[in-house]
Amino acid sequence: MGKGEDKGCSMRRIEAGSRYTYLPEGCRLCRKGAKLVLFVTGICNNSCFYCPVSKEKIGRDVVFANERPVKSVEDVFEEIEMMDAEGIAITGGEPLLKIEKVREYLKLAKKLDLHVHLYTSLPAGEKLKKLEGLDEIRFHPPELKSPEKYEESIRLAKKLGMDAGFEIPAIRFEEKIVEIVNRNDAFLNVNQLEVSESNWERIAESYSITDYYVSDEETERIVKEYERAEKFHYCSARFKDIAQFRRRLIRMAMNHPEFYAVTRDGTLVCTRVEGDAERLSIAEEILRKAGQEFVRFEDCIETTPELEKKIREALKSEGLRLRIVERYPTYNRLVLEVMDI
Ligand code: SF4
Repeated sequence: MGKGEDKGCSMRRIEAGSRYTYLPEGCRLCRKGAKLVLFVTGICNNSCFYCPVSKEKIGRDVVFANERPVKSVEDVFEEIEMMDAEGIAITGGEPLLKIEKVREYLKLAKKLDLHVHLYTSLPAGEKLKKLEGLDEIRFHPPELKSPEKYEESIRLAKKLGMDAGFEIPAIRFEEKIVEIVNRNDAFLNVNQLEVSESNWERIAESYSITDYYVSDEETERIVKEYERAEKFHYCSARFKDIAQFRRRLIRMAMNHPEFYAVTRDGTLVCTRVEGDAERLSIAEEILRKAGQEFVRFEDCIETTPELEKKIREALKSEGLRLRIVERYPTYNRLVLEVMDI
């Protein structure tokens, strides 16, 4: 048995309609917002109709640690630090098409004592023996076809000491999946199908959509059937937003300098000083002289949202633009709200 919650507990209901009888360790960390998503390649030999990978990433051999583009292992390390990660989810594309990269990241994770789980659409077979340090593996049969091909690999993964199971979107009920997990003491994770720019047209042809996911009613009809799996976990789309993502933001926000104001949603509020490079250097001088903490980016400076009036005036008199900004604490600094001051 893996490190997740023990088999056999009755159904536990958690946030936003999610529930489980067994929660794999990777999901437990994800719920805490402590899981870093490591996208190791956009290359994949399948073309699932519901594939959520963006058009910019699919088919391209690119690496991202959460929102951060990765050029070297150091970038991954920085992202781990930024969110105080306790675990890594290796995903793609198809990660096992780039197994050497996966091995490199596994080494880093083990050095830092992080839990690692990996998603794959391949019945990995003997490749599993190369994944030293992997704690948990989740098999995804594309469009739920031929799940029996994965049974041998589930057995082998468990023999190698990994926790193992299926992770599937709730597109339909596939009896064989339940039989395989129950036969092998494996887990089953079922996800509500989410709609993104890249997949919504194809999903809308066959399912009814509410907001950005397949409706709860339609999903529940399918998920109910899967509850026959002994080690069962259902993860709703809203759960990902209100629990997992929000908690990750809070962890990241808390690792920023104290002058940022942190909201209950884990976003940051600050004053953003904008201008060309020369003016930004003048702004740095002004803030330094005033003893004001700040962070310099290539395109702007960020400092406290409660900047004194005389400092604001001094900056403006140098032709700099000042705005109060609410943004994500993520690498891409996605802005949610802006107000000129
Ligand atoms: S296996 Fe995954 S990455 Fe590949 S096409 Fe299907 S959903 Fe997309």
